[in-house]
Amino acid sequence: MFSCILLSIVGIASATPLVDEIYPRRGEKCGYESCTQAEPGLLNVHIVPHTHDDVGWLKTVDQYYYGSRNNIQKAGVQYILDSVVQELWQDPKRRFIYVETAFFWKWWVRQGDDIRHKVHTLVRQGRLQFVGGAWSMNDEAASHYQSTIDQFTWGLRKLNETFGPCGMPRVGWQIDPFGHSREFASLLAAMGYDGLFLGRIDYQDKGARLSQKRMEMIWRGDDNLGNSSDLFTGVLFNTYSPPPGFCFDVLCDDEPIIDDPDSPMFNVDARIVKFLAYVTKQALYYRTNNVILTMGGDFTYQNADMWYKNLDKLIEYTNIKAAKDGLNIKLFYSTPDCYLKAVKDANPILPTKQDDFFPYASDPTAYWTGYFTSRPTTKYFERQGNAYLQMVKHLQVLGDLEEHNKFVLNELKSAMGVMQHHDAITGTEKQHVAHDYERLLNAAIEDSTLIARQAFNKIAQGDSTKLPLFAYERCKLNESSCPVAETSKQFVVTIYNPVAWDVKAPIRIPVKDGTYEVYAPNAAKITSQLVDIPQTIRNIPTRKSEATHEIVFIAKLHPMGVKSFFIKKVSPKVKRDTRKSERKNDYYVNINDYWKNIRYKTNIDIKNIDDTDVKDSYFPIRDITDIPVLPERYTKDNIPILVDYHDNIDKKVNIVKDIDIDLLKDKELPDYGVEQLEKIIKEVYFGKNEAEGRSLDKKWHYPTLNEDEMRMLSDEPKVVERFDEFYMENEYMKLRIDNRTGQITHMILPDRTTNLNIQIYYWTGCYGDNTNTSQRSSGAYIFRPQTKIPYDITYTSNGTVKGPVVTEIRAISDQNTLTTFRLYKGLNYFEHDFVIGPINVDDNVGKEFIVRYETNINNKNVFYTDSNGRQMLKRVLNKRADWNLTLEEPVAGNYYPVTNEITIEDDNTKIAVLTDRSVGGTSLNNGELEIMVHRRLLHDDAFGVGEALNETVNGKGLIVRGNHRIYNIDPSNRDEIINERKNVIENHLKPIVFVSNSDSTPYEIWINLNNCFKGVKPLPLGLHLLTLEPWNPNQVLIRIENYLEKSDKSTVELDFTDMFNNLNVKSIKEATLSANKWLDDAEKWIWNRENDFADSFNEAYNSDDSVDGDDKKLRNDDGIKNNDDLRDDGLKIKLRAKQIRTFIADYEYIPPVV
Ligand SMILES: [Zn+2]
Repeated sequence: MFSCILLSIVGIASATPLVDEIYPRRGEKCGYESCTQAEPGLLNVHIVPHTHDDVGWLKTVDQYYYGSRNNIQKAGVQYILDSVVQELWQDPKRRFIYVETAFFWKWWVRQGDDIRHKVHTLVRQGRLQFVGGAWSMNDEAASHYQSTIDQFTWGLRKLNETFGPCGMPRVGWQIDPFGHSREFASLLAAMGYDGLFLGRIDYQDKGARLSQKRMEMIWRGDDNLGNSSDLFTGVLFNTYSPPPGFCFDVLCDDEPIIDDPDSPMFNVDARIVKFLAYVTKQALYYRTNNVILTMGGDFTYQNADMWYKNLDKLIEYTNIKAAKDGLNIKLFYSTPDCYLKAVKDANPILPTKQDDFFPYASDPTAYWTGYFTSRPTTKYFERQGNAYLQMVKHLQVLGDLEEHNKFVLNELKSAMGVMQHHDAITGTEKQHVAHDYERLLNAAIEDSTLIARQAFNKIAQGDSTKLPLFAYERCKLNESSCPVAETSKQFVVTIYNPVAWDVKAPIRIPVKDGTYEVYAPNAAKITSQLVDIPQTIRNIPTRKSEATHEIVFIAKLHPMGVKSFFIKKVSPKVKRDTRKSERKNDYYVNINDYWKNIRYKTNIDIKNIDDTDVKDSYFPIRDITDIPVLPERYTKDNIPILVDYHDNIDKKVNIVKDIDIDLLKDKELPDYGVEQLEKIIKEVYFGKNEAEGRSLDKKWHYPTLNEDEMRMLSDEPKVVERFDEFYMENEYMKLRIDNRTGQITHMILPDRTTNLNIQIYYWTGCYGDNTNTSQRSSGAYIFRPQTKIPYDITYTSNGTVKGPVVTEIRAISDQNTLTTFRLYKGLNYFEHDFVIGPINVDDNVGKEFIVRYETNINNKNVFYTDSNGRQMLKRVLNKRADWNLTLEEPVAGNYYPVTNEITIEDDNTKIAVLTDRSVGGTSLNNGELEIMVHRRLLHDDAFGVGEALNETVNGKGLIVRGNHRIYNIDPSNRDEIINERKNVIENHLKPIVFVSNSDSTPYEIWINLNNCFKGVKPLPLGLHLLTLEPWNPNQVLIRIENYLEKSDKSTVELDFTDMFNNLNVKSIKEATLSANKWLDDAEKWIWNRENDFADSFNEAYNSDDSVDGDDKKLRNDDGIKNNDDLRDDGLKIKLRAKQIRTFIADYEYIPPVV
């Protein structure tokens, strides 16, 4: 059985264990073999000691680990692990499970040899078992499947490296997340887990399941994948708490078991009676003669002695009593794995489930649907973190970079793993914890860009040993801020496309007013447009930017490619003010400034003036390639060292000096000595005084052309006048606009017209003292609006922008909102860019802002939301697939998580809204899509956080900027449906933009660099390169996903020999989705089902072939519908609809021919 470990992993781990610490010795057993055997004729009571350690919630990750700030919550994870290991060591019967690898790893690396040896022994003997085992216990609503897979891969790899097969988790353990997604079940099945345990499901669902003994079921994760996505799923009886009265923790007040018969407090008999009453009741609701008792809770076992001392007694005395009284009951220490194995051995016939467990309600007024949107800026940042993580993984491989980079790559993997935790991405943590998550992620992103910078430089110069020419800086594009672009006279925009096909992406770079030219790598000047930044955005208090405009262009990007664009500012600062007299003054002032500032002349100026076609009259021609080649100096490890240029600088400087002096000799020169000039030139030229160089930039002006002349020379009108208009249009659609309000009224396509009205509204939040359900407040978890109809807001038009790249219309409202609708040339969607906040709470009422897309689509109460960004699930207003719903909260109870996409459709038209982060969404009225985008609340909802969700910056409410892409799709057109899926992936993995000052690196240098790099060849339609990650030296982890729905032509072939440009894949071996087990070694358990699955849940639900009825659409082949030959042929593989296949590939790197 031990062949199932990826042996190649062991040996490269940082904390490499001795092999004999990993493999069981004679007499040792782990996994299912280590379980205490359940007995068929008895009620088997599985006592499962556990702790639930949130990776941040009321305290930060580190505060929890170290037990700091115990005034907030008495919790210190290090003490838990210390204490548990000691207690386990004392008695081989005792068991414990651990879940969150983020904490375990933090603890493990701090242990000495003695403790490590003990832990290895405990793991080898099955006394300490890992369940779940991902970096954190991820949320299932807001988390994206890519990030879920990543954080499982990361956590499980640590366990695999350290403990081998005995450390491999076998069951999922999602005991606290607030609702459960279908896609997560599908992913766990693909990772090779044997089962999943849940703590929280809707109270009505739970009631129905208890009464019908449906607490345990077979859950089908994905209809396209069929039985390969089936997973045993059990709902725990008492969330994850012990039976009432049996919490033996330092945090609890329950009575210990007092077994001294001479003591007046002797309570053994009474305690056992109470305990037996509980377990026999619990047993009534389950189908086998096994019950699982979760003996623990949040941060329990800091003093494990208390637990084990009492549990030992409970087990011993109950078993004695059972034997004496013939009670047919047996208590023993167990684990979720062992409970699952016992249930399997009992071979029950189980019910099925085919939808998901959203939304979660814990009582009639507590719908946990607010958290789908809570802390929208954190949710956005997390999405960016994922894009960066994918990028650096890709570039580390594609750029063939140094091994030691994995340190920063791992830092980002850890940070993203933490972000998936069910109190991180969910926004259900205290404010100081939210700040700490941001700190962690930001630091990790920044550190990891080291990889991107190395790769970009290596690609650009064709040589990793050359000193970088560019700084590749991150910009805060979400607040239209990019200091480096704002302060550079010319700059390079470097863009990475993280998807494996060609993408056309709108790029917006914040700049100061001016005229700009954008050059593509082929030296072509490409169409660009300068668009002013609305005042609302310029006023964002956190924004540290002087940008007044954005230079906008459409970048055509290659698969996993890097592309650079060169942007030059070619005119003096242009004033929008058209008063001629003033401008004339400007002109002369500029000339004067010019001569005043000519002392700072560098070759860069010459270059810029070259571009204005006047060089000959002013300057001698100079070969720009004369610029000194920077000396290459390296340490023996090829790490660039700082170089002093003095030794070879003089000659070149003299050339510059000569030019300038020639140039200046006929002019009226200010009083500058040659030496002084030379010094300044040298400094600016070589960027030694970058700060000063930049500040000088601001003063540069050119005497050559005025604004009008510039415009005449320019190919395209760069300065756009505002005007009102009635239609926006591009090649794909026409949008009719109401002039008065600046609102869209119709979306017109060649073959159909859809009424469309996009409005922002707000709900007002209920508030009360939470003492009973009617006093429930809207809060971080809970959405509970006061009304059934939201408040609307009044818009006024805020201008229109039109140009060759983009047309925009804008509207503002009295409620601090700005909406911008954008239609780009050549793109088949339009964008809704919105700025909301600060939300006004002067009336002491919390508010939740929503966007409604109101159409004439007849969707008949049906809408679709995605499950973690991968599959779409049908939702029906006021209905659940699994039980008859009673709904006291008709708004909140119809909200569902939207990770990437929400749609409505009728026979002719489908409207899809793609979001830039996770949100909550619904469709409350026919033809409508509703998305919650911002929340500001003034009361806690009493689920533990103890703070109102009132995010502020400098005392004012947080401002949120977001972006939706809206598609109008023909639902019967297969190509459009496939394209929709592609667009969702593109929207999730948007190109990542870096900007570099290029004042010292002129265009002529740049154009000779490699500015267009293609990482892979375009994948066949239907395939997505989900993961490309460095694994071991010369080994890469590759995941390929087929995103097509099941149909006749949905199987797609891929040839690894024809996939990469610079990697030669030599061999592949397939692993489970989490890459901790070879696929050949994974064995799927087969269960007895009491009913079959519908062919398609979405088709069956709410149709005549109801999922609940007897006449459902059955299928016999269990998922594999097409009869294509699915066998692989060496490096040529085939992927079925929706399949993700995971490979460890051996490869060699082939350097590009320069
Ligand atoms: Zn939790």
